[in-house]
Amino acid sequence: LTKHVVVVGGGVVGLASAYFLRREGAEVTLLERSTIGSGASWGNSGWVDPTFSAPLAGPGMVGTALRALARPNGSFYLPMRHLPRLAPWLWRFWRASSPERHDAGLRAVARLAQPTQRLYDQLGADGVRFDSRRLGVVHAFLDAARAERIHQTFLPLTELGYEAPSGVVGGAALREGEPSLSEAVAGGFIVEGARVVNSPSLLYGLQARITELGGAVREHAPVIGLDTKGSRVTGVRTPEGPIEADEVVLAAGVWTGQLAAKLGIDVRIEAGKGYSFSVTPMTMTSHLLHLYEARIAVSPFEERLRIAGTMELSGVNRKLNPRRIAKVAQAASRYLGGWTGPLEEQWTGLRPLTPDGLPVLGRPREWTGLCMASGHAMAGVMLAPATGQAIAQIVLEDADLAELHPFNPDRFG
Ligand SMILES: Cc1cc2nc3c(=O)[nH]c(=O)nc-3n(C[C@H](O)[C@H](O)[C@H](O)COP(=O)(O)OP(=O)(O)OC[C@H]3O[C@@H](n4cnc5c(N)ncnc54)[C@H](O)[C@@H]3O)c2cc1C
Repeated sequence: LTKHVVVVGGGVVGLASAYFLRREGAEVTLLERSTIGSGASWGNSGWVDPTFSAPLAGPGMVGTALRALARPNGSFYLPMRHLPRLAPWLWRFWRASSPERHDAGLRAVARLAQPTQRLYDQLGADGVRFDSRRLGVVHAFLDAARAERIHQTFLPLTELGYEAPSGVVGGAALREGEPSLSEAVAGGFIVEGARVVNSPSLLYGLQARITELGGAVREHAPVIGLDTKGSRVTGVRTPEGPIEADEVVLAAGVWTGQLAAKLGIDVRIEAGKGYSFSVTPMTMTSHLLHLYEARIAVSPFEERLRIAGTMELSGVNRKLNPRRIAKVAQAASRYLGGWTGPLEEQWTGLRPLTPDGLPVLGRPREWTGLCMASGHAMAGVMLAPATGQAIAQIVLEDADLAELHPFNPDRFG
């Protein structure tokens, strides 16, 4: 019997889940309350790179969070007035920041991400049209000694499937391979093998392929509640009326918590606001750039660079603060040779952040007919294909996947 699955959320995670579900034979209806990509999935950096699979919670991060209280211009910002509301989340964040838990989280994400490049290749081969390129990542440092220290931390990661980094070189040698870097860059190293995806192209490519395969992707279709019978979720409620489903997949990014809370499920997702904008550079980069001290990612898309950064814990709001954008631009300009013209395509997105920095994936214990797919933090583009594949296996084969156990949706309850 064909299962009817309703996927809530038209970001990269919802679309990838709907694609794999449809591919494996489910009847799929994806409901997006606004337009495709109106959440975090639009103006992000598009990196598919395990360098970014480390959970946010980790050694030293509590100090970073505390310092962030006093530094509205820092790359990590936690406005003081949000402290009371955030206290329970920060308490869990602190508990998850031990070296042991950070290491376990990193391993869990690396394991989930393991088939990622193959799955992206398969999407392309199956007719999902999107722009992606394999480029190396230049990790650029203003402080050469820090480059040496951080380089050491990359070496053990090769056992998790990371590419081994090149040796550390000085600024001049780095500029030979990447002339877009400024004289201020004192050193760095390169990690080959990353992929960069132009996110809007991926979202539209998935939408088109789902539709071509006979699935439905509906925009301006908000889900306002979930219908239940006993401990089974039987469908969703929309302003136009109920839609029945054999299974509902919640992939609503930072808004997943509100929907889950209606069923008493506590997924503890906070918003980690980030900003991006595009500029036309004097010299185009031929790599992805990680401007290390500033925590900024630079991605070349056609003739422009998308520059993205900041992690702001200021609740669920899309307010675009021009001062924060200006600070990112100022920090980035120290590392880059320069650009002409204004900061275009200014954008903000909310990363879905759990306190331990890991996604929530799978079925909550107390409910049947419900599957969670959210909390992908800084790695939603990277993890979307592996997530979509796993969700399809859970929903259609009742699979109990060992690699998903660390992402158990009940772990905060
Ligand atoms: C500046 C920045 C840079 C980033 N760079 C990278 C990167 O380089 N690589 C990487 O892997 N990740 C990156 N990320 C993270 C990545 O963007 C996110 O992890 C990912 O987009 C999350 O996708 P999602 O589908 O879970 O959520 P979203 O994209 O937020 O999608 C959720 C969707 O659900 C919809 N929705 C919400 N409530 C309802 C409802 N009730 N009914 C119907 N629809 C609803 C929303 O409108 C939204 O479209 C970056 C993020 C930011 C902010």
